[in-house]
Parts: sequence; C-alpha cells; structure tokens
Amino acid sequence: VELQVLDTGFVRLVDMLGNDYTAVKSARVSYGKGLKGKEQDKKLIYFLLAHGHETPFEHIVFTFHVKAPIFVARQWFRHRIGSFNEISQRYTEVQDDFYVPEIIRANTKEDKQKSINLENPQLAKNAQSLIEMAIKDAFNVYYALLEAGVAREQARIVLPLATYTQFYWTVNARSLMNFLNLRADSHAQFEMQMYAIAIGQIFKEKLPITYDAFLTHAYKGDLLR
Ligand SMILES: Cc1cc2nc3c(=O)[nH]c(=O)nc-3n(C[C@H](O)[C@H](O)[C@H](O)COP(=O)(O)OP(=O)(O)OC[C@H]3O[C@@H](n4cnc5c(N)ncnc54)[C@H](O)[C@@H]3O)c2cc1C
Repeated sequence: VELQVLDTGFVRLVDMLGNDYTAVKSARVSYGKGLKGKEQDKKLIYFLLAHGHETPFEHIVFTFHVKAPIFVARQWFRHRIGSFNEISQRYTEVQDDFYVPEIIRANTKEDKQKSINLENPQLAKNAQSLIEMAIKDAFNVYYALLEAGVAREQARIVLPLATYTQFYWTVNARSLMNFLNLRADSHAQFEMQMYAIAIGQIFKEKLPITYDAFLTHAYKGDLLR
C-alpha cells in the first residue's frame, strides 16, 4: 500500500507482522487459551481497548517507508517507541526536492497550536513565492558549495526544513495508536496531520477491527472520525 501525502511525499507499507487476532492470541496466552471464534474474539479486542489493556497490541508490527519534509520528520522522530532509519545527507547528494505549501496559513489568537487559512489571496500568493524563492536560493547555494568541493555534510547545512527526507519507521500497533492520538488531531501541524491520516488509513485497511475498537474506545484525536 502506498499513499501520496502533500505534493511529492508518501507513506508506503513495507512490511507487517500480525493481524487483528494477534492481540487476541497474545492476551489469551495469560490463561493458556487461544482463539474462541469470531464474535468472542472481536469482543475481546473492544474490551482490551476500552479498558486500557494495550500491551497485546505490541505484538502487531508495521514497517513504513515515509517521504516527508524535514520539519515533519523532526516531529515524527520524537515518537521514541519505534525504530527509525533515515537517508543520509552525508553519503548522498540531496535531491532538489522540497515542499511548498499549497495553502498559506496564519496563526490564530485563540490557540497557539492552531492555524487558519490566510484569507487575503494576494498576501498568500506573495508568501508562497517568498517561500519558493528562499528554498530555491538555498538549493543553488548548496549545489555551488558542492561544485566548489565542499563536503556534502557541510554543504547541507544551508538546506531548509522544507527539504524532503526519507526514512523507515517500524512501530508496533500500540505505539502507532499513541501516534494517531497525538498527530491525527487538529492540534498537530497541518502537514503532520496529513501524514497521520495516511498512516490511519493503512492501519484501518490492515487491522479493521482493531481500528474500529480504537475509534470507539481509545482515540483521543479529532480527525479520524
Ligand atoms: C500538538 C503537539 C505539540 C508538541 N509540541 C512540542 C513542543 O513544543 N516541544 C517539544 O519538545 N515537543 C513537543 N511535542 C512532542 C511531544 O512532547 C512528544 O515528544 C511526542 O508527541 C511523542 O509523544 P510520546 O512521548 O507519547 O511518544 P513516544 O516517545 O513514542 O512514547 C510513547 C509512550 O511511551 C512512554 N514513554 C516513552 N518514553 C518515556 C520516558 N522516557 N519516560 C516515561 N515514559 C516514556 C510514554 O507513556 C509515552 O506516551 C508536541 C507534540 C504534539 C502532538
């Protein structure tokens, strides 16, 4: 499964271990039992999430390949329960690939974590051209530095946060639900929200019962409903 996110970003499921019933089996091992039939098994998934018994979901594991701007990756890497490997800007030349927002947003007075679309179309257009100009300038300097023989690890320090990076993320379903609670939520940055929604879609496709039980009993965010 691969979903496009933002202009040229993506989220791709590379690998997965387990399914909806993995949590059931690992929960029942506590008293030496396995699966008991579809209805009872399904009920247990809802019960576990309703009562905060989350460890059985740690046995379901996803590996994603993500392409995201550096400012999104930086927020993502704060999620410590999981494993990351990122493309190296020391070993590879950075591609001229960056994110320019389609919609320009303004801060609101009511809530520091929220932003609204900038209403004045002229101001928005100007802001967008300024962003694009600054990024292109930075890339021109980057390539000029490489051309002059400067090491990639030093030349890259001029690159902006909008530059796309790529990483692998291996995460268990429990930690993934924590990620969705925090990032598939209107308090997260818009661009991060878009990635979290894509991750949520893959979670829904691969673990439909767990996803529904999560939304019913444990989801604290406001974008997936
Ligand atoms: C809207 C929003 C705004 C944010 N703003 C900021 C900000 O301004 N500055 C900033 O620095 N960060 C900010 N963050 C990041 C935030 O503080 C967390 O680092 C990030 O959301 C990861 O959450 P987590 O710790 O639950 O996830 P994980 O690191 O994946 O941890 C999962 C869970 O494991 C447990 N855990 C993990 N490590 C420890 C530990 N060392 N000790 C005890 N329990 C642990 C906790 O229960 C935790 O919830 C923001 C996050 C959001 C969603």
